[in-house]
Amino acid sequence: MILFELRCAHQHHFEAWFRDGATYDAQAAKGEIACPVCGDCAVDKAPMAPHLAKTRGTALDAQEAVGEMRKVLVDMKRRVQENCEDVGERFPEEARKIHYGDSEARPIYGEATPAEARDLEEEGVAIQRIPWVAEGN
Ligand SMILES: [Zn+2]
Repeated sequence: MILFELRCAHQHHFEAWFRDGATYDAQAAKGEIACPVCGDCAVDKAPMAPHLAKTRGTALDAQEAVGEMRKVLVDMKRRVQENCEDVGERFPEEARKIHYGDSEARPIYGEATPAEARDLEEEGVAIQRIPWVAEGN
């Protein structure tokens, strides 16, 4: 037995079992297969696996979305690097100094552990956490 997804001339989709492909061909040719919705006998095999095609399309869209997101993040990273001073691991210290006026106010960037970042935020130091994507490829 073989299961075919069929479609009538009115685009109703339905499934039907046949002994084999040849049986389907013979019955379809003689107009013996009728659409269960409208009774139309002009049935045809529906395009294969519409579900699979949809899944693949979605996966591709997700991949493209990740690619787009990555571009945005790389662009943001470059702009930070061009416009801000890299203070590296001294970031929490420098950010605090700038906040309290002990250091010249200027845009800086660097590293902070999640705990350090939380401490700064709790102190009211205006910082922004951004995903630092690896470049290349
Ligand atoms: Zn129909």
